[in-house]
Amino acid sequence: MTGLSDSFQRPINYLRISVTDRCNLRCIYCMPPDGIPLMPHHSILTYEEIYAVAQAAAKLDINKVRLTGGEPLVRSGLPGLIQLLARIDAIDDISLTTNGIWLGRYAAELKSAGLQRVNVSLDTLRQDRFEPITRCNHNLGDVLAGIEVARSVGLNPVKINMVVMAGINDDELLDFATKTINEGWHVRFIELMPSAGVSTTTAQFVPVSDMRKQLELLGELEPCLPGIGNGPAKYFRLPHATGTIGFIAPISEHFCIHCNRLRLTADGKLRPCLLSEDEIDLKQPLRSGLSSAGLKQLIEEAVARKPLRHHLAEGYMPKDRPMTQVGG
Ligand code: SAM
Ligand code: SF4
Repeated sequence: MTGLSDSFQRPINYLRISVTDRCNLRCIYCMPPDGIPLMPHHSILTYEEIYAVAQAAAKLDINKVRLTGGEPLVRSGLPGLIQLLARIDAIDDISLTTNGIWLGRYAAELKSAGLQRVNVSLDTLRQDRFEPITRCNHNLGDVLAGIEVARSVGLNPVKINMVVMAGINDDELLDFATKTINEGWHVRFIELMPSAGVSTTTAQFVPVSDMRKQLELLGELEPCLPGIGNGPAKYFRLPHATGTIGFIAPISEHFCIHCNRLRLTADGKLRPCLLSEDEIDLKQPLRSGLSSAGLKQLIEEAVARKPLRHHLAEGYMPKDRPMTQVGG
């Protein structure tokens, strides 16, 4: 097999880069109610350091990067980072995950910097729910407008990610699904994962099988190909829909077997698995003058340390960082 693969022969070609731990929202499933102690600025990798990591990763056949956070759009100069990443020949897919609040403001600039596509996290279509879910007084309308601007500037496809929670937003599945018919949205329904310090509980967990039952009220879900991106979602289409419905089932269907990724935290730790506390520090070695060859070795070590699967079902949950610090 060519390229990078882990001890379980999974090809690793995808790096998720968290550019900040800061966020303009405090979503109930991601962030503790009082927020998180913020990392000091000098702890956060500079864009040049992120570029150095991405260059070394690209030499190991990583060809996809996604910028995440925290909220990536709160870090200033993000288009500059995208320009740097777009210069790396081997990287042919640059994407972003955002809460969409500032997407309308930046979409055109991000696109011209070299961003190809965007995922927008949106858990409700109702303003009266938007505030309690995000614990901030921003406008749902800004996110909806951001989605339209992103589509109009050609950030294609725009995927909408909804974390489904019983008693909080699970009665909106059909509303989101209807948007795949009427507006060509690509919507992905995500199972709620436990996360350190957050206020959601396992009682709010909705398995994908229950989501599907609800959605089938709108018609048969016909399997379809993922289009761009090869993440853990399984895709379907409702009758007459131009958009798609994806399901991401980290809990009820083990998707670890298809895991192709590494994560870089904002403070420069390579994390082999979202749901394990194991990390390899890159920042200190980078700041002590580590060569590109040395960086490549550390990346290979992180790949070798990827576990076969997560252990949420056995009750193990990483406690070191909330999701907002790992990038989801
Ligand atoms: N702020 C950006 C956003 O919200 O899209 C990027 C960071 S956020 C941590 C990345 C993704 O993680 C989002 O799609 C979010 O819905 C998902 N996420 C966070 N906590 C989660 C949880 N407990 N269960 C499932 N998904 C979660
Ligand atoms: Fe912020 Fe994204 Fe987490 Fe919401 S999901 S608190 S927007 S990082």
